[in-house]
Amino acid sequence: MADSYAETAYSNGYEFTQGSGYQLPAYAFKEPPEIAAGEPSHHEIVIVGGGITGLTLACALAQYGISAVLLDEDNTVGVKGASSRGICYTQKSLEIFERLGVFDRIAAKGIQWSVGRTFAGQDEVYSFDLRQQSAFNLSSQPAFINIQQFYIEGYLVERIYQLGNVELRWQNRVTAFEQDNECATLTVSTPAGDYRLRADHVIDATGCHSPFRQWIGASVTAKKGDDRWCIADVRFSTHPPVERHTWIEAPFNENRAVWQHLMGDNVWRIDYQMAPDSDPSEVSREEVVRERLTRQFGPDTEVEIVWVGPYAYRSECVDRMRHGRVFLMGDSAKVVSPFGARGGNTGIADADNLAWKLAAVMKGRAAPTLLDSYHEERHEAAQQNVKVTNRTARFLRPSSRAEKMFRQATLGLARQHPFARQLVNTGRMAVANPYTHSSACEATGGLSVQNVEFQWPDGSPGRVNDLLRWADGRLLVLVFGSASEAALRRMAALTGTAPVLAVQVLDAEDRPSAREFVRDPKGHLQGACHVFGHAWALLRPDAYVAATGESVDATLVHAVGKALGTVLEEESA
Ligand SMILES: Cc1cc2nc3c(=O)[nH]c(=O)nc-3n(C[C@H](O)[C@H](O)[C@H](O)COP(=O)(O)OP(=O)(O)OC[C@H]3O[C@@H](n4cnc5c(N)ncnc54)[C@H](O)[C@@H]3O)c2cc1C
Repeated sequence: MADSYAETAYSNGYEFTQGSGYQLPAYAFKEPPEIAAGEPSHHEIVIVGGGITGLTLACALAQYGISAVLLDEDNTVGVKGASSRGICYTQKSLEIFERLGVFDRIAAKGIQWSVGRTFAGQDEVYSFDLRQQSAFNLSSQPAFINIQQFYIEGYLVERIYQLGNVELRWQNRVTAFEQDNECATLTVSTPAGDYRLRADHVIDATGCHSPFRQWIGASVTAKKGDDRWCIADVRFSTHPPVERHTWIEAPFNENRAVWQHLMGDNVWRIDYQMAPDSDPSEVSREEVVRERLTRQFGPDTEVEIVWVGPYAYRSECVDRMRHGRVFLMGDSAKVVSPFGARGGNTGIADADNLAWKLAAVMKGRAAPTLLDSYHEERHEAAQQNVKVTNRTARFLRPSSRAEKMFRQATLGLARQHPFARQLVNTGRMAVANPYTHSSACEATGGLSVQNVEFQWPDGSPGRVNDLLRWADGRLLVLVFGSASEAALRRMAALTGTAPVLAVQVLDAEDRPSAREFVRDPKGHLQGACHVFGHAWALLRPDAYVAATGESVDATLVHAVGKALGTVLEEESA
């Protein structure tokens, strides 16, 4: 199996699912050079963990042209024994993947969906259609795509091999860690023996069992419930509608909750809530799973079971996401229940957030203090996601008398009154979290910008991601509308001294006065940047605005300095 990767690594057509069960690719182990050399090597960035978070970071760094080493204890994608986990990927994640060059493959393999329906017994108590929420329609990426997580991981692996810069080391398990003023030192165990690596920056993307938490003494706020679930990934002879259906009280599951989603390869994820005292090995036995499926779909539906996995979840958040040289991200930083697809999606956002900052610091474009804003921004997001998912978990498995009464009252009202439907909580889907406490953003910034369309000067269509690729990791000042002579002088001074590019954004008719300009005839770019009229927006490489303002003056210079972790003097701009 180890060699099969060599044949498929750069081909675009391979499948991980063949017949029943998931056949994951196996990546070859290569003896690390440190073993023969007998001494540690030194790297600026070492990423530990090649799950969706670590691979997204590795791919983003590779794209920025930054070297790094990624160590993973396994030789494949998907986590050992839990190959099918994440399925729903949000627009923000899809936009990130478009920037990284893997979106087209995700779109080709995955399933787009926009309609969600929630039932209690036979009654539909809540529904939504994301196509009717116009904000979603402006991006070139859809609101959601459902796809097995390991596919995305596999596409990222191949893209990293294609881009170069980042070395992927499979079957390299980190077994010890220490850090001091000089560097961090990692001890790594491999099939060819142990070795040591030194690093300036270490990224802990080892997931929810992170050994780093103990090594660095991270404090964690945690909560464990008794909710139990069992996944059945199946193919059917008949097809339910391609919608997200959730039952809060499913008559065919002893009035417990059920989730039903379509993923890639025509595989349906059916996720059943179990009794709190259920035995995982019993509920995942094939006959028991088949009996459950028959109760739901009837005896005449032929079902092929692709994969079964019982699980419980907990909620955890580290109190700091940076400890000296170590940055925690993804599940190593916080663990949430799966409701709302907030686990993987926020790991992807963690990675996208740190990648451009590390790249800017490595390239000497930003001060090292910029890296502190990673904790400020992503910890705020982590806490928000923990809060939102905990609320859903309490609705789905109420424990106190008050929670049970609230749920009963909500369902009773929702059956009859539309206003109560918003209270039915089967998962608030992941969003691009705003940053309100960041030292790198002004109070006017901290909001995500969608991948909307504009026009290049020759009239051809462009997207926000094209602008970001053009900026190649630099900040972008977008100046909307005409600019005075003084404003143009300031923009020129700023771009001459700071790693910033400036672009004038005009409507269909206006004459450009700046060297670089694009047109925004429908106002989508301006709307996406959260500004109106004559204004500017400072756009970061992760498609967040760091700040917005009205006139091109000292406030812009100040905002650029902040976004680079430094102070820019107005004279130097
Ligand atoms: C049932 C279920 C459904 C879910 N649905 C969704 C969903 O729809 N959408 C979504 O966004 N999220 C979903 N999630 C959450 C999502 O799966 C996780 O948040 C995500 O996998 C976290 O990714 P990660 O890369 O941070 O960690 P992991 O995926 O856990 O990856 C960690 C990696 O680190 C490696 N590693 C660990 N220790 C070491 C070591 N010492 N040395 C070297 N390597 C090491 C492992 O081999 C692994 O590759 C779901 C989770 C579950 C359980």
